[in-house]
Amino acid sequence: MPSKDDDKNPLPDPEEIAKKLTDFFRTSFGEQVSVTAMPAEDAFRTAHEPDGEDHDLRSDDSESPILGFDLIPRQIKEHLDRFVIRQDEAKKALAIAVCDHYNHAKYLKRLAETDPAAAKRIEFAKQNVIVVGPTGVGKTYLVKHIAELIGVPFVKADATKFSETGYVGGDVDDLVRELVRKADGNVELAQYGIVYLDEIDKIATASNAGGRDVSGRGVQTTLLKLMEETEVPVRNPQDMQSQMQAMFEMSRTGKSTRETINTRHILFIVSGAFSGLEKIMERRLRQGPIGFVTDAGEERGEVADASREPVTQDFIDFGFEAEFIGRLPVRVVCDSLSADDLFDIMKHSEGSLIRQYEREFEAFGIRAEFADDALRAIAGAAAREKTGARGLMTVSERLLRGFKFELPGTTVTELKIDESVVVDPASALAALLASATPAGDAKAVSEIAAFRRKFESEHGVRLAFDAGAVARVAELASEAGKSIPEFCAGKFRDFHFGLQLIRKNTGQTVFPVTAEAVEDPDKYLSNLVVASYRG
Ligand code: ADP
Repeated sequence: MPSKDDDKNPLPDPEEIAKKLTDFFRTSFGEQVSVTAMPAEDAFRTAHEPDGEDHDLRSDDSESPILGFDLIPRQIKEHLDRFVIRQDEAKKALAIAVCDHYNHAKYLKRLAETDPAAAKRIEFAKQNVIVVGPTGVGKTYLVKHIAELIGVPFVKADATKFSETGYVGGDVDDLVRELVRKADGNVELAQYGIVYLDEIDKIATASNAGGRDVSGRGVQTTLLKLMEETEVPVRNPQDMQSQMQAMFEMSRTGKSTRETINTRHILFIVSGAFSGLEKIMERRLRQGPIGFVTDAGEERGEVADASREPVTQDFIDFGFEAEFIGRLPVRVVCDSLSADDLFDIMKHSEGSLIRQYEREFEAFGIRAEFADDALRAIAGAAAREKTGARGLMTVSERLLRGFKFELPGTTVTELKIDESVVVDPASALAALLASATPAGDAKAVSEIAAFRRKFESEHGVRLAFDAGAVARVAELASEAGKSIPEFCAGKFRDFHFGLQLIRKNTGQTVFPVTAEAVEDPDKYLSNLVVASYRG
């Protein structure tokens, strides 16, 4: 039975319309055509936004961060240092490449305003980057933070998803269109975005080390076109919905929106683990520096850098076309991370996983504290996983699962994680649970936890409600016809004055709250204050 609302709306939902349209267009124009159903958010956007503003496609560049780009490599590295541990050489090389790229873009943009013909004539070799390094050592993380810092859109894709003819679920151009989406429809901004392609080593040809198969060559050619200057239609020509949207927009605004996006200033950063590349480099280094002649007396053209940076020939030997690798002039190596590095990531990186875990426990009203020896033990176990910093998450998930499941809803409000907990989490959990009782009403527990957090952040002292206190608060609040937060706010309104006084006298910052304390907070508090003076 259709509901009342359905009566008001005679149209079927967007998916249904899309299906009907696809059937119709396929009969008329062939099987290639598709119509995607718009997510509600997009449908709303297209239907309701006034002409050419905000999320519609636009070429307005008043807010382009490119013209305002004035960072120097050192500043970029300093920004990255806040989040990414180690990888100093990679940070420097990336910072320089990014500065060169955007300074050049800015220069051309300025020139185009005064002398468009001259701007067109300028030769420019784009500084696309190839990052070599094992998994989980911060390759993506570096690029993501750079894009955020500069304020350009960033798209990540997996090179294994490419075939010679396109990209699984779309085509290669979709990568560029995705930049437009990430830039909220700002085509101008999207033209300065960063495309990051992971697992690029998987599209090396099979005749060489680590390669996938011969089709790798075809994929390299497809990507080449994109890395060079090309025009990508902003609307997917295969997608009927995009075309119709363009049509509606034209009839609404009377002008057609910008149709293509130029890839000239899109920065491409590709990366991969390149296992086997070290062997190729070793071979070269063995032959190179003492001037051995190779291949029919032809000397290798490149100076074999004593550092571990791969050179063009190494990549060619690995299975890349010279043309392809030639478009990636900046070579960056990321190191694998030691246990000490992993410790530093948890301890010092601004994006540390540990803060995330602390927040997750806090949401259950539990304060989790990680001691340094625990972090060292976690780092050691993670290093053995050999998945870089990703190992930290694997190890921590395993370690904390029991605690996250068992502790919420009990009277445990403190979780101190030291080395012994990491070594034997089951015993540590059993010991904690032995002294805990169910906190009863889960809703009451979480509401009291929220009150407790607010109280602590406002007054710098912590209340630890036991199970009896939680139950009593729930009872009294319900008798008074009040919500728990409201009841607590009234009941403990002046509590902090006394507690802060005690803290001054004794240094105590955590105060157990019992059922008696809830019954008569004033009496409870005055006893505590008196005791604190006795010392
Ligand atoms: P990959 O090298 O495979 O691209 P990522 O950059 O995606 O690895 O790293 C996965 C996660 O691990 C990141 O989101 C980040 O939280 C953490 N991480 C990896 N390397 C580092 C590092 N050097 N410093 C700080 N965190 C890191």
